Amino acid sequence: MARTYIGAVTGASRWQVNQFSAQHGLGDLVARRPGPCPMAVPVQGTLDGKPWRAAMDFYEVPELMRHLGTAAAIVCLYLTGMRPQEVLNLRSGCCPDLEPAADGIPGRHLIRSRHFKNVTDLDGHHLSAGEVRAVPWVAITPVVQAIRVLEKMVPEGELLFSSGQRSGVLKSGGLNIRITDFVSWLNREAATHNLVGQLVPDDPHGPLQVSRFRRTLAWHIARRPGGLVALAIQYGHMRTVLDARTSSRYGARGRGRGGIHTVLDVETALAAADTAARLRDRLAVGERLSGPAARRALTAAAQAPRFEGSIVPRTFVHKARAYLARDGIVLYDNHEALLICAFKHDVAMCEPAPGTTAPRQYDCRPGCANAVRTDGHALLLRERAAELDQLADRLPPPLARRLRTNAARLRATAGTHDSTAQSAEALR
Ligand code: SF4
Repeated sequence: MARTYIGAVTGASRWQVNQFSAQHGLGDLVARRPGPCPMAVPVQGTLDGKPWRAAMDFYEVPELMRHLGTAAAIVCLYLTGMRPQEVLNLRSGCCPDLEPAADGIPGRHLIRSRHFKNVTDLDGHHLSAGEVRAVPWVAITPVVQAIRVLEKMVPEGELLFSSGQRSGVLKSGGLNIRITDFVSWLNREAATHNLVGQLVPDDPHGPLQVSRFRRTLAWHIARRPGGLVALAIQYGHMRTVLDARTSSRYGARGRGRGGIHTVLDVETALAAADTAARLRDRLAVGERLSGPAARRALTAAAQAPRFEGSIVPRTFVHKARAYLARDGIVLYDNHEALLICAFKHDVAMCEPAPGTTAPRQYDCRPGCANAVRTDGHALLLRERAAELDQLADRLPPPLARRLRTNAARLRATAGTHDSTAQSAEALR
């Protein structure tokens, strides 16, 4: 019998509910005809435009709160680049609201927390309690929202991921179990609501684990800068956030100690080397090059090392940084703009921050002196133009006009490539 629920709905005490139940034999009745315990709270969440529940059930709430906490942990792990232990030690109040900016420029939310890796006392002994990180993490909006959700579940100053009624820090292993449970629950929900596109597929590399988020974030920032993450944040923009003043101070002082910048540098170097190796292969089969940076791209392709499939040792980070520091001959594949960027800092039109070794690819601008295109890109430009024309056929005139103008621009770019492209031999 749902005694707590009945007491809350009717205002009866637990004793009164027990008495009533005994008098009327409700225990047997419940066993024969069990029913739900809908709560009188409005259901606001929607799935595919429809309410995701007819009502919230009293006895489902603890499980839902657990999954909500897990989802918030995933957001924090994935969109900050923090280490699992650092996320699990966050406390309520770690990310204060922004003060109104004096200069009118909105600031960024900062997370103050403890870190643990390589924290030692004066004698060199590891301090397992860690220490408050001198430089805070920068938080983007979804992370701030996730922290606010967690702060509603725990008392002021408490660990955001304390394991419920039990005190103490949730361990990475515990969070891994929760993530597995969350994925199972999510898949059940998706199946119930017939949202097969939302299913989380089985992973050939095993279950999702906390240790994989940082590398995955770095991989996407390095290889899919125009790709979207939840709530339409671009990975390219994430790089800018991670390189923001506060983080880069950490980067400059803490490079020797690792951090997300280390992971990011390694992934960026691997991605750039892959781009150079692919370009070399394309040139070898006779593809031509166009664009102001074609000669630099040719040099970069000729010097391309192959890292594919190789194990990345810890010492690789030094090699990665040296590779990226070769201004002008590091190649970045830009899937969105359909070009290769032979990044030279001084002439970049996307206004990269001083000292950075990667372009702001999500803000790539036409006419940049770093752009290079191959015959393959010209083909893709024409395919995309055809897609836009097809889409325009189904849209009202003002929108259709805009798409057709874009399609014409893409075809003109492809045409410019055709008339100016040269073979590798001609460029040498
Ligand atoms: S604007 Fe220039 S430097 Fe920036 S991404 Fe585009 S091609 Fe590269």
